[in-house]
Amino acid sequence: MPSDSTSSARTRLDLPAVEALAALHGAYPVFAAGEVWLVGAGPGDPGLLTLDALAGLLQADVVVHDALVDARVLALARSGAQMHFAGKRGGKPSIAQEDISAQLVDLARRGLRVLRLKGGDPFVFGRGGEEILALASAGIPFRVVPGVTAGLAGLANACIPATMRGINHAIILATGHDPDEDGNLDWAALARTRQPIVLYMGLRNLDKIADALLRAGLPAGTPAAVVSSATLAEQQVLVSTLACIAADARAANFAAPAIVVIGDIVSTRQHVSDACAKAAHAGSAA
Ligand code: SAH
Repeated sequence: MPSDSTSSARTRLDLPAVEALAALHGAYPVFAAGEVWLVGAGPGDPGLLTLDALAGLLQADVVVHDALVDARVLALARSGAQMHFAGKRGGKPSIAQEDISAQLVDLARRGLRVLRLKGGDPFVFGRGGEEILALASAGIPFRVVPGVTAGLAGLANACIPATMRGINHAIILATGHDPDEDGNLDWAALARTRQPIVLYMGLRNLDKIADALLRAGLPAGTPAAVVSSATLAEQQVLVSTLACIAADARAANFAAPAIVVIGDIVSTRQHVSDACAKAAHAGSAA
């Protein structure tokens, strides 16, 4: 529930947001009763929320959110909005996806304005696809508001360009599932593209993934970086090589949430690191 101090933050933000949205859309986007908005909250920094996400927060009756949504973003919700947590907490198993979808349907059928708020972008490793399928099959009207995905925000905040003329023509966003268990992702095929790979949820299996990429012929010295808590005050950046990144991240106690990037685009950061460190929000381990 938003506190008094956050109510004053909301008052300050409310008016310019309304004006900006009205100017851009021709009207303030109206959140209808019985509707679900599936909204990306961005990677953490509330400054990276979209204006439409803010409009949703200011009107929602109930906010169903994941663990990675920053507390300062939640505090922007309309005072009186119900806050429902639907994520993983303290190592306990996460709520089943079907239960979350059923909850969204149920809340919308009660005539509430339901804001489903997810970290980053709702359709990037966020299971937003399953949720809109459930809403559509239940006949619930919904709207999707994209968010800034952590993989791209993490690169930008670490001064690593996602694409760089002369270096890459594509960028791969992949989940860091265990290569031994994930029959669907062909790491050797990804390595052969010689395009940078950005791993979500990649710290746990980083040793195995790096090994798979090395076995597929990626050079041991390929630059690699980890960006943890991207866009937040506690953001940390570690630059290393494919051969050493897993051990270095462990030695430096890097923890989730973190993205890993493997590819020559990382070398750009090395050229601008002083300027980058000055511009960055927070301290950098690189
Ligand atoms: N839908 C989200 C991703 C959800 S999967 C998005 O588009 O960003 C969760 C993973 O996202 C985390 O394990 C981590 O790899 C990444 N992530 C989310 N927030 C992050 C942050 N602030 N910094 C670094 N990685 C982050």
